[in-house]
Amino acid sequence: MSGRVHPGETVGSWMMRGALLFITDPVNPEAKILRDNFVFKIIPMLNPDGVINGNYRCSLAGCDLNRRWKAPSKMIHPTVYYSKKLIKNLHAEREVLMYCDFHGHSRKQNVFMYGCNNKAKPEETRIFPYMMSKLN
Ligand SMILES: [Zn+2]
Repeated sequence: MSGRVHPGETVGSWMMRGALLFITDPVNPEAKILRDNFVFKIIPMLNPDGVINGNYRCSLAGCDLNRRWKAPSKMIHPTVYYSKKLIKNLHAEREVLMYCDFHGHSRKQNVFMYGCNNKAKPEETRIFPYMMSKLN
């Protein structure tokens, strides 16, 4: 899970806070089941320079880091570069079931999800949003 790639989307921090409170809850049996069965890697703020400097969408280098995932620069987009490296290294060791990046939206309301579609297995990217829609 990661958040705040877009610094102005403060709701990303609220969602991250909620996710952390839930997943670390010592008495919630659902949280315990998740902790017992999954490894969570958490990057609460992917764009700390942008947040500290009050940018809305860009890093200190003036880059929209969310548009740099295909070929991030180690020097200019280090948080994306190393996050991608972390995910690749994890994937070499075990299956990575999901990557959630918490954003906000300037016009949409409530909760919604975008996903990277797998055309061969579209259900892979649709099952989690479907489950969330039924549970919440
Ligand atoms: Zn965003």
